[in-house]
Parts: sequence; structure tokens; C-alpha cells
Amino acid sequence: MKSVNLKETRQRKYILEQVRKLSSHPTAEDLYFAINKKFPAVSKATLYRNLDNFCKKGLIKRIEGKYQRFDGNVKPHNHIKCVYCGRVDDIFFDIEINSKKLKKLGYKIEDFAVAINGICPKCAKNKVK
Ligand SMILES: [Zn+2]
Ligand SMILES: [Zn+2]
Repeated sequence: MKSVNLKETRQRKYILEQVRKLSSHPTAEDLYFAINKKFPAVSKATLYRNLDNFCKKGLIKRIEGKYQRFDGNVKPHNHIKCVYCGRVDDIFFDIEINSKKLKKLGYKIEDFAVAINGICPKCAKNKVK
């Protein structure tokens, strides 16, 4: 039994490492491919369960959208997403929010996330052809 637990711990550590290493905001599918190379025994169900746990613990973040992606960077930042290929890039510059208008709604702001949609350089280039 002990060896099974040890193996699971190693797998869990590796999954977390992969999410943090892949700055491309990998989908669960991307991660499955990456992890499968090293741990072929890890099923998709196990992977999803682990990703879910990491999110709950705040170790990684889930990016909602058509393709569910994961972010190993939990520091506050925003995202820009390509509407064609689903690629997600980080935005580190400040985005101004209209706090006056929000105050009118009676809210005190805790934090916010902005999702910007666009066309990535690669897709823009392909479209021109
Ligand atoms: Zn694109
Ligand atoms: Zn990000």
C-alpha cells in the first residue's frame, strides 16, 4: 500500500510541475499528453481530479471558456484570448476599471479579472493568406 501512495504523490507533484512549467495555459488535454509520456498509468479521471484539487487549494487557476485551461501562475493578472485557436496570453499591464460606476451599484471591489478576446499574431497571419 505504501508504494502506491508514494507513486501517487510523485504523480501529483509531476502534474503540478507541468501546469506551472507550461506557461501556455494548457488545457486538460494538453496536460494529459504531457503527463502520459512520463506516467502512462495516469488516467484522465485521475488527472482531472488532481487539477480540481489544485484549483480548490489555490495552487493553480482555472481559466473559464470554451476550452478549459489551467494557469500555474496564481498571481493576479489578466488574459487575452484568441477567438480562433484558443491561445491565451498573459496581460500584466493595468486595466482601468470605472470605480465610480461600480460604486453606484453599491459594490466594494475585492478583485477583478478581465478577459479580452482577439486574434493572435499567428491566426492573423494565416487569415491574410
Ligand atoms: Zn490564434
Ligand atoms: Zn495567465
